Amino acid sequence: MTSPLLKVTDLHVNFISRWPNEPNIDVLRGVCFELYRGERVALVGESGAGKSLLATSIIQLFDSSARIRQGQVTFEGQQLTQLKPKQLRQIRGRRIGMVFQDPMTNLNPSLTLEQQLLECILSHRSISRAEARLVALHKLRQVHIPAPEARLQQYPHQLSAGQRQRATIAMALALEPALIIADEPTSALDVTMQAEVMSLLTHLCHSNGVALLLITHDLSLVAHASDRCLIMYAGQIVEQGPTSVLINDAQHPYTQGLIKALPQMSSPGQTLFQIPGQMPVAQELGNHCAFATRCEFAHDRCWQQTPTMPTGNGHRASCHLLTAAQAGDE
Ligand code: SF4
Repeated sequence: MTSPLLKVTDLHVNFISRWPNEPNIDVLRGVCFELYRGERVALVGESGAGKSLLATSIIQLFDSSARIRQGQVTFEGQQLTQLKPKQLRQIRGRRIGMVFQDPMTNLNPSLTLEQQLLECILSHRSISRAEARLVALHKLRQVHIPAPEARLQQYPHQLSAGQRQRATIAMALALEPALIIADEPTSALDVTMQAEVMSLLTHLCHSNGVALLLITHDLSLVAHASDRCLIMYAGQIVEQGPTSVLINDAQHPYTQGLIKALPQMSSPGQTLFQIPGQMPVAQELGNHCAFATRCEFAHDRCWQQTPTMPTGNGHRASCHLLTAAQAGDE
Protein backbone atom coordinates (compact mmCIF):
# COMPACT_ATOMS: atom_id res chain seq x y z
CA MET A 1 0.00 0.00 0.00
CA THR A 2 1.31 3.50 -0.84
CA SER A 3 2.23 5.72 2.08
CA PRO A 4 0.06 8.77 2.69
CA LEU A 5 1.14 12.21 1.48
CA LEU A 6 -0.06 13.71 4.76
CA LYS A 7 -0.59 11.84 7.99
CA VAL A 8 -1.94 13.51 11.12
CA THR A 9 -1.63 11.36 14.23
CA ASP A 10 -3.21 12.02 17.63
CA LEU A 11 -2.91 15.79 17.22
CA HIS A 12 -3.71 17.86 20.30
CA VAL A 13 -3.51 21.66 20.03
CA ASN A 14 -4.26 24.12 22.81
CA PHE A 15 -4.08 27.85 23.43
CA ILE A 16 -1.81 29.06 26.20
CA SER A 17 -3.98 30.61 28.88
CA ARG A 18 -3.49 34.30 29.65
CA TRP A 19 -4.05 33.64 33.36
CA PRO A 20 -1.47 31.72 35.43
CA ASN A 21 -4.05 29.61 37.31
CA GLU A 22 -6.13 28.76 34.28
CA PRO A 23 -5.21 25.44 32.58
CA ASN A 24 -4.45 25.27 28.85
CA ILE A 25 -7.35 23.34 27.36
CA ASP A 26 -7.04 21.30 24.18
CA VAL A 27 -9.09 22.69 21.31
CA LEU A 28 -8.01 19.95 18.89
CA ARG A 29 -8.34 16.64 20.68
CA GLY A 30 -6.58 13.63 19.21
CA VAL A 31 -7.16 14.32 15.50
CA CYS A 32 -6.05 11.46 13.21
CA PHE A 33 -6.40 11.24 9.44
CA GLU A 34 -4.48 10.48 6.27
CA LEU A 35 -4.54 12.06 2.85
CA TYR A 36 -3.06 10.41 -0.25
CA ARG A 37 -1.44 11.92 -3.37
CA GLY A 38 -4.00 13.41 -5.73
CA GLU A 39 -6.86 12.76 -3.28
CA ARG A 40 -9.53 15.37 -2.53
CA VAL A 41 -10.59 15.31 1.11
CA ALA A 42 -13.26 17.59 2.59
CA LEU A 43 -13.15 18.60 6.26
CA VAL A 44 -16.68 19.59 7.26
CA GLY A 45 -18.22 20.99 10.43
CA GLU A 46 -19.98 23.99 11.92
CA SER A 47 -18.13 27.16 12.72
CA GLY A 48 -16.06 26.66 15.90
CA ALA A 49 -15.43 22.93 15.30
CA GLY A 50 -11.68 23.53 14.92
CA LYS A 51 -11.39 23.08 11.14
CA SER A 52 -9.30 26.19 10.46
CA LEU A 53 -7.15 25.55 13.53
CA LEU A 54 -6.45 22.07 12.17
CA ALA A 55 -5.49 23.53 8.76
CA THR A 56 -3.14 26.10 10.27
CA SER A 57 -1.72 23.54 12.73
CA ILE A 58 -0.66 21.30 9.83
CA ILE A 59 1.60 24.07 8.50
CA GLN A 60 2.08 25.76 11.91
CA LEU A 61 0.80 29.06 10.66
CA PHE A 62 -1.36 29.60 13.71
CA ASP A 63 -1.79 32.25 16.39
CA SER A 64 1.31 32.66 18.57
CA SER A 65 -0.72 31.55 21.61
CA ALA A 66 -1.52 28.18 19.99
CA ARG A 67 0.71 25.21 20.68
CA ILE A 68 0.90 21.62 19.49
CA ARG A 69 0.81 19.76 22.80
CA GLN A 70 0.98 16.26 21.41
CA GLY A 71 0.88 14.35 18.15
CA GLN A 72 2.57 14.22 14.78
CA VAL A 73 2.09 15.76 11.35
CA THR A 74 4.00 13.85 8.66
CA PHE A 75 4.15 15.27 5.14
CA GLU A 76 6.09 13.59 2.32
CA GLY A 77 7.80 11.52 5.01
CA GLN A 78 8.96 14.59 6.99
CA GLN A 79 7.86 15.24 10.55
CA LEU A 80 6.64 18.86 10.25
CA THR A 81 6.43 19.42 14.00
CA GLN A 82 10.20 18.95 14.27
CA LEU A 83 11.26 21.32 11.47
CA LYS A 84 12.90 24.69 11.99
CA PRO A 85 10.93 27.82 10.92
CA LYS A 86 13.07 28.24 7.76
CA GLN A 87 12.47 24.63 6.69
CA LEU A 88 8.75 25.06 7.34
CA ARG A 89 8.66 28.22 5.20
CA GLN A 90 10.17 26.24 2.32
CA ILE A 91 7.39 23.65 2.59
CA ARG A 92 4.62 26.23 2.90
CA GLY A 93 3.99 27.61 -0.51
CA ARG A 94 6.44 25.30 -2.31
CA ARG A 95 4.95 21.91 -1.39
CA ILE A 96 1.77 22.99 0.42
CA GLY A 97 -0.25 25.83 -1.11
CA MET A 98 -2.92 27.72 0.83
CA VAL A 99 -6.14 29.32 -0.44
CA PHE A 100 -8.01 31.31 2.20
CA GLN A 101 -11.60 32.56 2.36
CA ASP A 102 -10.47 36.14 1.85
CA PRO A 103 -8.18 36.38 -1.20
CA MET A 104 -6.59 39.48 0.34
CA THR A 105 -5.00 37.16 2.94
CA ASN A 106 -2.84 35.83 0.08
CA LEU A 107 -2.60 39.02 -2.00
CA ASN A 108 -0.71 42.21 -1.18
CA PRO A 109 -2.91 45.22 -2.08
CA SER A 110 0.09 47.43 -2.84
CA LEU A 111 1.74 45.16 -5.43
CA THR A 112 0.66 44.29 -8.96
CA LEU A 113 -0.25 40.71 -9.77
CA GLU A 114 3.00 40.40 -11.76
CA GLN A 115 5.14 41.57 -8.81
CA GLN A 116 3.39 39.11 -6.46
CA LEU A 117 3.34 36.09 -8.75
CA LEU A 118 6.97 36.56 -9.81
CA GLU A 119 8.16 37.12 -6.25
CA CYS A 120 6.35 33.97 -5.16
CA ILE A 121 7.73 31.86 -8.04
CA LEU A 122 11.30 33.20 -7.91
CA SER A 123 11.58 32.79 -4.13
CA HIS A 124 11.05 29.04 -4.52
CA ARG A 125 12.24 28.11 -8.02
CA SER A 126 15.62 28.55 -9.73
CA ILE A 127 14.37 29.92 -13.03
CA SER A 128 14.85 33.23 -14.85
CA ARG A 129 12.49 36.17 -14.51
CA ALA A 130 11.28 35.68 -18.10
CA GLU A 131 10.53 32.00 -17.42
CA ALA A 132 8.74 32.92 -14.17
CA ARG A 133 6.60 35.38 -16.13
CA LEU A 134 5.64 32.62 -18.57
CA VAL A 135 4.67 30.36 -15.65
CA ALA A 136 2.57 33.18 -14.17
CA LEU A 137 0.78 33.77 -17.47
CA HIS A 138 0.15 30.05 -17.94
CA LYS A 139 -1.35 29.76 -14.46
CA LEU A 140 -3.57 32.82 -14.98
CA ARG A 141 -4.86 31.23 -18.20
CA GLN A 142 -5.48 27.95 -16.35
CA VAL A 143 -7.72 29.75 -13.85
CA HIS A 144 -9.58 31.48 -16.72
CA ILE A 145 -8.51 35.04 -15.95
CA PRO A 146 -9.30 37.00 -19.13
CA ALA A 147 -6.53 39.06 -20.81
CA PRO A 148 -3.83 37.75 -18.46
CA GLU A 149 -1.09 40.00 -19.94
CA ALA A 150 -3.08 43.08 -18.99
CA ARG A 151 -4.15 41.63 -15.60
CA LEU A 152 -0.52 41.11 -14.61
CA GLN A 153 -0.13 44.91 -14.52
CA GLN A 154 -3.15 45.39 -12.25
CA TYR A 155 -3.47 45.65 -8.49
CA PRO A 156 -5.79 43.27 -6.56
CA HIS A 157 -8.46 45.98 -6.05
CA GLN A 158 -8.80 46.29 -9.85
CA LEU A 159 -9.98 42.67 -10.10
CA SER A 160 -13.44 41.33 -9.28
CA ALA A 161 -13.84 39.16 -6.12
CA GLY A 162 -14.00 36.02 -8.27
CA GLN A 163 -10.88 37.02 -10.24
CA ARG A 164 -9.00 37.73 -7.00
CA GLN A 165 -9.81 34.26 -5.69
CA ARG A 166 -8.83 32.71 -9.03
CA ALA A 167 -5.54 34.66 -8.87
CA THR A 168 -4.81 33.16 -5.43
CA ILE A 169 -5.49 29.69 -6.84
CA ALA A 170 -3.07 30.48 -9.69
CA MET A 171 -0.49 31.59 -7.13
CA ALA A 172 -0.98 28.42 -5.06
CA LEU A 173 -0.60 26.23 -8.16
CA ALA A 174 2.36 28.16 -9.62
CA LEU A 175 4.88 26.36 -7.43
CA GLU A 176 3.47 22.93 -8.35
CA PRO A 177 2.69 21.90 -4.77
CA ALA A 178 1.76 18.36 -3.75
CA LEU A 179 -1.12 19.62 -1.56
CA ILE A 180 -3.43 22.62 -1.49
CA ILE A 181 -5.28 23.47 1.71
CA ALA A 182 -8.33 25.57 0.82
CA ASP A 183 -10.11 27.11 3.84
CA GLU A 184 -13.69 28.10 2.92
CA PRO A 185 -12.40 29.24 -0.51
CA THR A 186 -15.80 30.29 -1.84
CA SER A 187 -17.58 31.65 1.26
CA ALA A 188 -16.93 35.28 0.33
CA LEU A 189 -18.27 34.86 -3.23
CA ASP A 190 -21.81 35.04 -4.61
CA VAL A 191 -23.59 31.76 -5.35
CA THR A 192 -22.86 31.68 -9.11
CA MET A 193 -19.19 32.45 -8.58
CA GLN A 194 -18.99 29.86 -5.74
CA ALA A 195 -19.84 26.98 -8.08
CA GLU A 196 -17.46 28.25 -10.76
CA VAL A 197 -14.47 28.73 -8.44
CA MET A 198 -15.08 25.42 -6.64
CA SER A 199 -15.29 23.52 -9.90
CA LEU A 200 -12.13 25.23 -11.17
CA LEU A 201 -10.21 24.46 -7.97
CA THR A 202 -11.15 20.77 -7.88
CA HIS A 203 -10.63 20.34 -11.63
CA LEU A 204 -7.17 21.96 -11.56
CA CYS A 205 -6.06 19.95 -8.52
CA HIS A 206 -7.23 16.77 -10.23
CA SER A 207 -5.59 17.56 -13.60
CA ASN A 208 -2.32 18.66 -11.96
CA GLY A 209 -2.24 15.64 -9.61
CA VAL A 210 -2.38 17.94 -6.57
CA ALA A 211 -4.09 16.68 -3.39
CA LEU A 212 -6.76 18.97 -1.91
CA LEU A 213 -7.83 19.44 1.70
CA LEU A 214 -11.05 21.42 1.39
CA ILE A 215 -12.33 23.02 4.58
CA THR A 216 -15.98 23.99 4.59
CA HIS A 217 -19.01 24.37 6.83
CA ASP A 218 -21.24 23.57 3.84
CA LEU A 219 -21.86 19.86 3.36
CA SER A 220 -23.74 20.53 0.12
CA LEU A 221 -20.45 21.63 -1.49
CA VAL A 222 -18.56 18.43 -0.93
CA ALA A 223 -20.55 15.91 -3.00
CA HIS A 224 -18.82 16.86 -6.26
CA ALA A 225 -15.70 18.37 -4.75
CA SER A 226 -14.25 15.52 -2.68
CA ASP A 227 -13.45 11.83 -2.75
CA ARG A 228 -13.47 11.45 1.00
CA CYS A 229 -15.03 13.39 3.83
CA LEU A 230 -14.06 14.02 7.45
CA ILE A 231 -16.74 15.37 9.79
CA MET A 232 -15.40 17.45 12.65
CA TYR A 233 -17.17 18.34 15.89
CA ALA A 234 -15.72 20.09 18.96
CA GLY A 235 -12.10 19.47 17.97
CA GLN A 236 -12.48 15.81 17.01
CA ILE A 237 -13.19 13.91 13.82
CA VAL A 238 -16.43 12.07 14.54
CA GLU A 239 -17.08 10.40 11.17
CA GLN A 240 -15.07 9.73 8.03
CA GLY A 241 -15.46 7.80 4.82
CA PRO A 242 -15.88 8.04 1.05
CA THR A 243 -18.03 11.11 0.42
CA SER A 244 -20.83 9.36 -1.51
CA VAL A 245 -21.08 6.59 1.12
CA LEU A 246 -21.04 9.05 4.01
CA ILE A 247 -23.71 11.31 2.51
CA ASN A 248 -26.02 8.42 1.62
CA ASP A 249 -25.50 6.47 4.84
CA ALA A 250 -24.40 8.88 7.58
CA GLN A 251 -23.84 7.00 10.84
CA HIS A 252 -23.07 9.68 13.42
CA PRO A 253 -26.11 11.62 14.74
CA TYR A 254 -24.20 14.89 14.11
CA THR A 255 -23.60 14.05 10.43
CA GLN A 256 -27.23 12.96 10.14
CA GLY A 257 -28.23 16.37 11.53
CA LEU A 258 -25.97 18.22 9.04
CA ILE A 259 -27.56 16.30 6.16
CA LYS A 260 -31.09 16.91 7.45
CA ALA A 261 -30.28 20.63 7.62
CA LEU A 262 -29.40 20.85 3.91
CA PRO A 263 -31.92 23.10 2.11
CA GLN A 264 -32.52 20.44 -0.57
CA MET A 265 -33.74 18.02 2.14
CA SER A 266 -36.77 20.27 2.88
CA SER A 267 -39.96 20.60 0.87
CA PRO A 268 -40.91 24.06 -0.45
CA GLY A 269 -42.47 26.16 2.34
CA GLN A 270 -41.14 23.84 5.05
CA THR A 271 -38.99 25.36 7.82
CA LEU A 272 -35.34 24.38 7.47
CA PHE A 273 -34.16 21.86 10.06
CA GLN A 274 -31.55 23.05 12.55
CA ILE A 275 -29.54 20.90 14.94
CA PRO A 276 -30.80 22.08 18.36
CA GLY A 277 -28.43 23.76 20.81
CA GLN A 278 -24.88 24.90 20.29
CA MET A 279 -21.47 23.33 20.07
CA PRO A 280 -19.83 23.34 23.52
CA VAL A 281 -16.72 25.45 24.02
CA ALA A 282 -13.47 23.69 24.97
CA GLN A 283 -13.93 24.52 28.68
CA GLU A 284 -17.25 22.62 28.74
CA LEU A 285 -15.83 19.38 27.36
CA GLY A 286 -15.27 16.44 29.68
CA ASN A 287 -15.08 12.67 29.67
CA HIS A 288 -18.31 12.27 27.76
CA CYS A 289 -19.54 12.57 24.20
CA ALA A 290 -19.18 16.21 23.12
CA PHE A 291 -22.42 15.94 21.12
CA ALA A 292 -24.47 14.63 24.07
CA THR A 293 -26.09 17.99 24.85
CA ARG A 294 -27.60 18.11 21.33
CA CYS A 295 -28.16 14.44 20.55
CA GLU A 296 -31.66 12.95 20.57
CA PHE A 297 -30.14 9.47 21.13
CA ALA A 298 -27.98 10.39 24.15
CA HIS A 299 -28.14 7.77 26.88
CA ASP A 300 -26.31 7.12 30.19
CA ARG A 301 -23.13 5.78 28.60
CA CYS A 302 -22.81 8.93 26.46
CA TRP A 303 -22.41 10.97 29.66
CA GLN A 304 -19.96 8.54 31.25
CA GLN A 305 -17.50 7.79 28.49
CA THR A 306 -16.08 9.54 25.41
CA PRO A 307 -16.78 7.42 22.32
CA THR A 308 -13.71 6.45 20.27
CA MET A 309 -13.22 6.15 16.52
CA PRO A 310 -12.93 2.51 15.40
CA THR A 311 -9.67 1.69 13.62
CA GLY A 312 -9.62 0.88 9.92
CA ASN A 313 -9.67 2.64 6.58
CA GLY A 314 -13.33 2.56 5.60
CA HIS A 315 -16.45 4.43 6.62
CA ARG A 316 -16.50 4.79 10.41
CA ALA A 317 -17.83 7.00 13.17
CA SER A 318 -17.30 7.48 16.90
CA CYS A 319 -20.63 6.94 18.62
CA HIS A 320 -21.69 4.55 21.40
CA LEU A 321 -24.80 3.56 19.45
CA LEU A 322 -22.60 2.12 16.70
CA THR A 323 -20.28 0.22 19.02
CA ALA A 324 -23.37 -1.23 20.77
CA ALA A 325 -24.82 -2.25 17.38
CA GLN A 326 -21.49 -3.80 16.31
CA ALA A 327 -21.25 -5.71 19.62
CA GLY A 328 -24.80 -6.97 19.03
CA ASP A 329 -23.82 -8.20 15.56
CA GLU A 330 -20.89 -10.25 16.85
FE1 SF4 B 1 -25.33 10.69 20.57
FE2 SF4 B 1 -24.30 9.12 22.43
FE3 SF4 B 1 -23.60 8.79 19.90
FE4 SF4 B 1 -22.76 10.89 21.27
S1 SF4 B 1 -22.24 8.76 21.68
S2 SF4 B 1 -23.56 10.91 19.23
S3 SF4 B 1 -24.54 11.34 22.55
S4 SF4 B 1 -25.64 8.50 20.78
